[in-house]
Amino acid sequence: MADIPLICENISVKNNTLYFAGQNTELLAKRYGTPVYLMDENRIRERCRTYLGALIEAFGGNAKALYASKACSFKRIYEIIKEEGMGVDVVSSGEIRTALKAGYPLENAYFHSNNKTDADIAYAIENGIGYFVTDNVEELTAVQNEAAKRGIRQKILLRITPGIDPHTYAAVSTGKVDSKFGSAIETGQAEEITRMALQQPNIDLAGFHCHVGSQVFDSDVYLRAADVMLTFIADIAAKTGYAARELDLGGGYGVRYVAEQPQIDIAENIRGVGKFIKEECAQLGIAVPMIAFEPGRSIVADAGMTVYTVGSVKRIPGYKNYVSVDGGMTDNVRFAMYGSPYTVLPTSGLDRPFDMKCSVVGRCCESGDIIQNNVPMPSDIKRGDLIATPTTGAYHYSMASNYNRIPRPPIVMLNNGDSYVAVRRETYDDLVSLDM
Ligand SMILES: *Cc1c(COP(=O)(O)O)cnc(C)c1O
Repeated sequence: MADIPLICENISVKNNTLYFAGQNTELLAKRYGTPVYLMDENRIRERCRTYLGALIEAFGGNAKALYASKACSFKRIYEIIKEEGMGVDVVSSGEIRTALKAGYPLENAYFHSNNKTDADIAYAIENGIGYFVTDNVEELTAVQNEAAKRGIRQKILLRITPGIDPHTYAAVSTGKVDSKFGSAIETGQAEEITRMALQQPNIDLAGFHCHVGSQVFDSDVYLRAADVMLTFIADIAAKTGYAARELDLGGGYGVRYVAEQPQIDIAENIRGVGKFIKEECAQLGIAVPMIAFEPGRSIVADAGMTVYTVGSVKRIPGYKNYVSVDGGMTDNVRFAMYGSPYTVLPTSGLDRPFDMKCSVVGRCCESGDIIQNNVPMPSDIKRGDLIATPTTGAYHYSMASNYNRIPRPPIVMLNNGDSYVAVRRETYDDLVSLDM
């Protein structure tokens, strides 16, 4: 019998069958078809409560948890986030539209992105966006102009690059000075844009924002980011008299894709950051600003699992084995983009030895269409069997494509023994519906 890596508490094995959120994945696949994105609603809620609870414990009412909705954006998730009392980050008018459709109150939303068009800015202000997280001078001017036209004062945070390399994958590290995001402290540009923001009559500068990267396991990264940002706030206060009311420390807490990765104790982590911030503020002689975190991945990642049907098993003697599934880079592009690790498991017969190594690959016409290499699998795996990839709740549906005109899978929510479709499966007619 194989040693099954049950990498999250919501994964279990009963009668040698894989269960997710307490439900039989084989039965779910039969009912909803494959490929299918399963999402554990209780796990999402539990993660929201962990963040919010820890922040309130550390900072009292003077804290906010925001869900970075680019991780997985669909109507139902905004309803859940609203019910859990969290704010959201959005990065486009499309995400704003989705949040509005869900009845999400936009005054609790923060609008990110390094390039918001004039149309985006107008749409966001028209719909009462809470904050812009302003990236650059052009955006600052455009938001000022739009706010002036409407006779309002628009709250913003300025996105600052603290110059920290979180030592994760280069492709997802954003807090370094050389970044397309934000204004760097080191170059003086952060101070420049702050002075400029303070002079705009229709801009209410609420504070500052930074985001050091993604899939960060080292809590030290957040302490260093807080240190740099609080020092910047104190420096600006000394030079201009401006006291920042809010400090948003970004998202990026890591999650477990494979057994070798740790499971972060988020509450413990935030406790540590809280203690550090309070001490640092006292030392710098500044008031503790309202602290925000904006997790995306760690809210939804391990609430997700994708189930596929195997189509072929190809053994190339002297080379390797390929197991092809009915999805691939269209529903999970993360190995192709970042070389991300994944666990892949058969959903039944889990008492068999995993006596074969294989590459689990998709159905797209692209050799890079790989879910994972070097996956242990029972050697009698065959066409029609099901296999599952855990930890696919973040950056899977939201990065899904129609490459090769493959319809996107549905999102099926699992909740206390029940299940329901939150996003239906795309049809072939959906795919041609835009063609004139
Ligand atoms: C992507 C992003 C997040 C969320 O990052 P996770 O790794 O998903 O937690 C938060 N803030 C900003 C600015 C981001 O770009």
